[in-house]
Amino acid sequence: MGKPTGFMEFKRELPQDQPELERLKNWNEFHRHLPEEKLKLQGARCMDCGVPFCHVGTLLAGMASGCPINNLIPEWNDLVYRGLWYEALERLLKTNNFPEFTGRVCPAPCEGSCVLGINEPPVTIKQIECEIIDRAWEKGWVPIPAPAKRTGKKVAVVGSGPAGLAAAEQLNLAGHTVTVFERADRVGGLLMYGIPNMKLDKKVVTRRVELMEKAGVKFVTNAEVGKTLPAEKLRKDFDGIVLCTGATQPRDLGIEGRNLKGVHFAMEFLTANTKRVLNGSGDFISAEGKDVVVIGGGDTGTDCVGTSMRHGCKSLAQLEILPKPPTTRAADNPWPQWPKVYKLDYGQEEAAAKFGADPRQYLVTAKRFVGDEHGQVKGIEIVNIEWGKDDKGRFIPKNIAGSERVIPAQLVLLAMGFLGPEDTIAKALKLECDPRSNFKAEHGNFSTNVPGVFAAGDCRRGQSLVVWAINEGRGAARECDRWLMGSTDLP
Ligand SMILES: Cc1cc2nc3c(=O)[nH]c(=O)nc-3n(C[C@H](O)[C@H](O)[C@H](O)COP(=O)(O)OP(=O)(O)OC[C@H]3O[C@@H](n4cnc5c(N)ncnc54)[C@H](O)[C@@H]3O)c2cc1C
Ligand code: SF4
Repeated sequence: MGKPTGFMEFKRELPQDQPELERLKNWNEFHRHLPEEKLKLQGARCMDCGVPFCHVGTLLAGMASGCPINNLIPEWNDLVYRGLWYEALERLLKTNNFPEFTGRVCPAPCEGSCVLGINEPPVTIKQIECEIIDRAWEKGWVPIPAPAKRTGKKVAVVGSGPAGLAAAEQLNLAGHTVTVFERADRVGGLLMYGIPNMKLDKKVVTRRVELMEKAGVKFVTNAEVGKTLPAEKLRKDFDGIVLCTGATQPRDLGIEGRNLKGVHFAMEFLTANTKRVLNGSGDFISAEGKDVVVIGGGDTGTDCVGTSMRHGCKSLAQLEILPKPPTTRAADNPWPQWPKVYKLDYGQEEAAAKFGADPRQYLVTAKRFVGDEHGQVKGIEIVNIEWGKDDKGRFIPKNIAGSERVIPAQLVLLAMGFLGPEDTIAKALKLECDPRSNFKAEHGNFSTNVPGVFAAGDCRRGQSLVVWAINEGRGAARECDRWLMGSTDLP
């Protein structure tokens, strides 16, 4: 610990984001950097606790507590305080293949379990992580992750999201010849076509992919395994396969009017929009001038809000079936659990700046979509709910009679989560799935029931976070390497 009294002397400080109304005018990232002198002081707030929790990455009450990739946080905080940026980078890259992604989009469970967070605002871990890697890219310090020698073994990675990229980088480092197959026209999975550009600039993704290509990883886009590329061919041509196909089946809302024009899954809206931003033109679903209703919270819902705001929507409502969280930790949500507290994410901040209030309505659900004579949605009937227990003791939402009303909506975006991977590959390879329809493989060994076939990321654990996808991609690479070589040096 560079400065033993730092946590008492310095307050938590983050850079001011670009103001909401200004950033709505474009698709650029809106986070800014802190000057070096201020960053060092933020690093000095780390207490290098006797028992740090920030890096444990364990599940408490079903949520991540601490960093799921076990980043060596106290070590690089100290190095940043001392101005040893290159050394901080070396420590960071020991556990995280892609800090420029997590430093931008991770919800930072590390900060939720920071010991300083018990009675003070936690250390700005995510910001420091991002500053270390952004500085490294700027200075040309990021190493080409190439192996010293090749093993002669060939591995196919299916899917190029953070799990697939992490698996590919690790397997390549172990000396295997790696080909990543991606059905989309660009590499990156949800880093490319889910998370919008203002949160994660797509140049940051392609820069990393180009470095991996330099290191010897081959990427094949527009290749859908199980459709345009038979899964059996992969079995024949490769010594090992790592499946990282994501949780791509959206949860639907089968209520009256679902087939009306203007009711879309969030991913139809977000993917087409990013394509248009990157290509400079193209078909997309516009929110301009419309009353938009986003059904569902979470990152996907927030991204629908931020994107609609940039289109220039007329109004925005976000429906949330759960109650509004408390402003501070509830008694049953103690440190070091992930704090389930009320906060405004970037999309809600923007809607509040433009329309005067947080767009979220809590404890409501949609009963039916109302259409006009052209089959176009024009409103949603919503109803307040309360949570009660059914006869088996399970919590279920109950409609409150008499609270029904219709709100205007010419565009409805369904952001209610995902139901696991598509089953094409599972059928082709005769993979077992778990009761939630994910590919069945234990966390830790990542091996499916088919020898030599591994599964990692959202297709194995269900819809999750970028940082968990990196954790799983690394783990699956390690186990695939062990299977191919009999032993492994991969972490
Ligand atoms: C809109 C949105 C916003 C999000 N925001 C955040 C956030 O801010 N922070 C965060 O931590 N997490 C966020 N998440 C979650 C995070 O993006 C995912 O948990 C993570 O990307 C999962 O990584 P993955 O590699 O397992 O799968 P994915 O990123 O989903 O990648 C899977 C890839 O596999 C490809 N694929 C599927 N089937 C085939 C096939 N048969 N052949 C070839 N390719 C195939 C897909 O095209 C896709 O590119 C968000 C998710 C969404 C949907
Ligand atoms: S990856 Fe996420 S949890 Fe880990 S240190 Fe970075 S921000 Fe924290």
